Amino acid sequence: MPLVTTTEMFKKAYDGGYAIGAFNVNNMEIVQGITEAAQELKAPLILQVSKGARAYANHTYLVKLVEAAVIECPDIPIALHLDHGPDFETCKSCIDGGFTSVMIDASSKPFQENIEITKQVVEYAHDHGVVVEAELGTLAGIEDDVKVAAHAASYTRPEEVEEFVTKTGCDSLAIAIGTSHGAYKFTAAQCTRNEKGILVPPPLRFDVLEEVSKRLPGFPIVLHGSSSVPQEFVKLINENGGNMPDAVGIPEEQLRHAAELSVCKINIDSDLRLAMTATIRQHFAEHPADFDPRQYLKPARAAIKAMVAHKIVDVLGCDHKA
Ligand SMILES: [Zn+2]
Repeated sequence: MPLVTTTEMFKKAYDGGYAIGAFNVNNMEIVQGITEAAQELKAPLILQVSKGARAYANHTYLVKLVEAAVIECPDIPIALHLDHGPDFETCKSCIDGGFTSVMIDASSKPFQENIEITKQVVEYAHDHGVVVEAELGTLAGIEDDVKVAAHAASYTRPEEVEEFVTKTGCDSLAIAIGTSHGAYKFTAAQCTRNEKGILVPPPLRFDVLEEVSKRLPGFPIVLHGSSSVPQEFVKLINENGGNMPDAVGIPEEQLRHAAELSVCKINIDSDLRLAMTATIRQHFAEHPADFDPRQYLKPARAAIKAMVAHKIVDVLGCDHKA
């Protein structure tokens, strides 16, 4: 099947109590690792491209890699989504350039300005059969060009969501309930430590999610910054020459719970980066003479596939929903 929008997959996910994984892609091995897992598990899939990925790999290369994946994965619906579109022009360029979904992130702007910019993107996108994700509230952390300090982050205000969705006509809404971008989602001061000395972050604000869902019944909610930063990979990185002290993420059981509620799309990027980097570091430590990129990219691709399979089955619950 050709690339699809997220409309149908979100409707089924909402009714079925699961979420679709949105995984960021930057190169061929990442596209292959993600799509091989989704194809084997018959999971609907969102491949997303950030502004940083377009700058790194070039829009055309990324679109063609995703189109290749669509041919190789005939059994699953795949959407191609722009992650954190910063302005109308970037969104337009992706809508014109083969994407089926775009995010306009004007969440750092004042409320009325966010509405105006989002509305402009929605009108253009809908005219071209493309769906739009918007954002209310601000996540802390770092993702490519989006950098927000913890003190500048704010939870979504549920009392704003009806006006925002009605006035903009957006198709899904990213909200801030305590997730955060990157591998360092929280400072040690924000966390407690468990008996193993590993940081435990503050719990997600399910009260905010429930209040938003009550005001927007049936409307798909999106969670960004939802990597869990598995400690075995952080350890593997640190044991093989890396330096990632106190990296911490969102516990998977909280994401699983969110997926059972109104959350239909969960963004996962850092966990794939960690799996890839840990595998490559370990490979070089064990095979210092290797210099053929295929020797270390092959296990790296397999690690991404395993990570995505785990997310699909144990966190998102979207296996066999294609
Ligand atoms: Zn994000």
